[in-house]
Amino acid sequence: MFDTAIAGSLPKPAWLAETEKLWPQWKSQGAELQQAKADATLLWIKAQEDAGLDVIGDGEQARQHFVHGFVEQVEGIDFEHKVTMGIRNNRYDAQVPQVVAPLKLKGRVHAFEAQLARKHTKKKLKFTLPGPMTIVDTVADRFYGDKVKMAMAFAELLNQEALALQADGVDIIQFDEPAFNVYMQDAADWGVAALEVAARGLTCTTAVHICYGYGIKANVDWKQTLGEEWRQYEQVFPALAKSSIQQVSLECFHSHVPPELMQLLDGKDVMVGVIDVASDVIETPEQVADTIGLALKYVPKHKLIACTNCGLAPMSREVAMAKLEALAQGAALARQRYGA
Ligand code: ZN
Repeated sequence: MFDTAIAGSLPKPAWLAETEKLWPQWKSQGAELQQAKADATLLWIKAQEDAGLDVIGDGEQARQHFVHGFVEQVEGIDFEHKVTMGIRNNRYDAQVPQVVAPLKLKGRVHAFEAQLARKHTKKKLKFTLPGPMTIVDTVADRFYGDKVKMAMAFAELLNQEALALQADGVDIIQFDEPAFNVYMQDAADWGVAALEVAARGLTCTTAVHICYGYGIKANVDWKQTLGEEWRQYEQVFPALAKSSIQQVSLECFHSHVPPELMQLLDGKDVMVGVIDVASDVIETPEQVADTIGLALKYVPKHKLIACTNCGLAPMSREVAMAKLEALAQGAALARQRYGA
């Protein structure tokens, strides 16, 4: 009951990359960089296990950014000539690569870190991939001329990599779709369908993470404009409830999401965000257990997973570590409180 997991990313150590940045520059190259990525992955596996988490991730130490880490391994994309594009409905500008030809995987994308992680933890291993709709929103299209067509093309590539990750021994494959909270109608119309293409044929557990973004200023400012009640999930959850995706990760603690929206996910495992990633204040175990208690009004006990609201990548290592411990301690307290 109340398994604990992170959404996905963790801070990169200063010897691996620039710290507290969303698109950090690597500190080395070639074989040295590969070794540094491996070392950082092992360090975070150990830290998650020491904190007492039940589901372990690679902390996304081997990718610069959660979308571009995948896109870098795709043929048909010009990574040399990035352009500035407003992303997430122009919430902020990003330097994005351009799609210039039919899309095809160059080979395996995440074999190195997935196999490494599998070798070094006996716990459940979760691996994250960007969702098709979020990828489409983070690249410039100079070829397809149609969002849905391009999303389906990316979904096929994601499916190829997801099946290979499953063969590597990954237990849970999670697709990250923050774009679902920005283009709600599109998400319901074709985003969920694209996700199901990406997850086609998987027999491991499948998950989707939908959030209000990392704790960066552009997102914090955006959230200020969303009003008293954040009802974005209301438009997307019914489509997800009907889908084959088994777990859904959502923001809860310190968000303005009405908790009763979790009811719309009937039948799914719900990864409830009990850790705020936009604040350096460490949650107390009591606060974490309280959030779990709130979610229990709408989610059955055996369906509730305690999670972070989003990735912890732009935070300091110390804060992230303390938050992992708060997550595990809070879930343990909730088991005592609500376990009977
Ligand atoms: Zn997120």
